[in-house]
Amino acid sequence: FDFMISKELDFAIRDIADFPKPGIIFKDITPILKDAKLCTAVIDEFVKQLEGIEIDVVAGIESRGFLFGLMLANRLQIPFVPIRKKGKLPFTTVEEPCELEYGSAILELHEDAIIPGQRVLIHDDLLATGGTVSAATRLVQKLDGVVAGYAFVISLDFLNANDKLKQVSQNIISLVSYK
Ligand code: AMP
Repeated sequence: FDFMISKELDFAIRDIADFPKPGIIFKDITPILKDAKLCTAVIDEFVKQLEGIEIDVVAGIESRGFLFGLMLANRLQIPFVPIRKKGKLPFTTVEEPCELEYGSAILELHEDAIIPGQRVLIHDDLLATGGTVSAATRLVQKLDGVVAGYAFVISLDFLNANDKLKQVSQNIISLVSYK
């Protein structure tokens, strides 16, 4: 594991207090996106840590999961498929409710996004409670895809979402974690 990349990312990530709600420290990844070399380093590190894991498709979660998700899929030269909030995807979809801290949302995936048996890497910018990626997991499974692993730029380890995800796949990657 590359210690330097997590240091660099920690330095780049901007903490915004009380956004979008009081009490939340929002991890802003936009400074990473302004640094092309750092973006390349992020993808390099994902590729390195994913070595030996068979992946056919990258599924990225709206909206910040589209950013590195697409870069990674393109680097691996495999398909990228978007998971979006209900009402945004134009073609026929499957849907799953998603538990959030306050209230709930519905996530959707195009029904032809995954061919049965394909191995899918689920990606989002940040893992918090795991509610979002759990809904993404169920969407992949609904289309008879196999969750090959999870990749995050950031994980908030104090929320203990890893334990839940490990029951689905042992392959959980995050480049910088906060205790
Ligand atoms: P969760 O479902 O609780 O794991 O939340 C993950 C989703 O919410 C991801 O799509 C994140 O982008 C977003 N999110 C949750 N907490 C934060 C945070 N502190 N900073 C930035 N994004 C967050």
